[in-house]
Amino acid sequence: MRKLIFAANWKMHLGPEAAVQFMQVFLQRFKSSADREVWFFPAAVSLKSVADLIRDRAGIRAGAQNVHWEKKGAFTGELSVDMVHEAGGNMALVGHSERRHVFGETDEETAKKVRALLEGRLTPLLCVGETIEQREAGETLSVVERQLGALSGLDSATLARIVIAYEPVWAIGTGKTATPADAAEVHVMIRQWCVDHGVAAGNARVLYGGSVKPGNVQELVSEPEIDGVLVGGASLDPADWTAIAQAGVD
Ligand code: PEP
Repeated sequence: MRKLIFAANWKMHLGPEAAVQFMQVFLQRFKSSADREVWFFPAAVSLKSVADLIRDRAGIRAGAQNVHWEKKGAFTGELSVDMVHEAGGNMALVGHSERRHVFGETDEETAKKVRALLEGRLTPLLCVGETIEQREAGETLSVVERQLGALSGLDSATLARIVIAYEPVWAIGTGKTATPADAAEVHVMIRQWCVDHGVAAGNARVLYGGSVKPGNVQELVSEPEIDGVLVGGASLDPADWTAIAQAGVD
């Protein structure tokens, strides 16, 4: 059975010291459970501190919020896949809506990042999702399908290594959450896309992200189509994050 994934995207918060303090509280409170993994995406400067603290903790992983597709060179401000690996990270977010909409990242760049991560044997967590205008224009499924194009051309074994997060842009940081049924409709389409590209339905992992909190996480992960959550704001508080990561555990 596939494991639930609870992923924390800290965005531009928690520098090295604050990240260590957070992790010490979290690791003390969190009781591991065989049915789930907890993933952290700290700021780049905090990645090594977090990775060092979880080295021996099964089911807890860390990765980067962004990578460049080139291996090295004159790319001021960027981070290579090898650097993430050396810092102890084994995955990275790709195509987060803030990368797409604030920094103008294109589908082509997203595709190159996915390939660079796979080549470096890191797990890409590809984020897809529509804006409110696209939703209201009835374009949700076509937008998500276009964004999934970042994975086209990959063989089925490689595709099965990728995790996808459906994050409607209008739900990120807004307090508006897609209903489990709304999210499920898009998750079904994403899973079918994976199946059409040779991945067994049970192996495709599709997370939901957008204003997930302790109060709504259980309802979301109870939906069979939702394999876990990607969380921004509520992952910055150790108590809230522990409650989210332990949803459904007695
Ligand atoms: C995110 O940044 O991926 C996210 C889902 O943010 P929030 O939980 O704050 O909506």
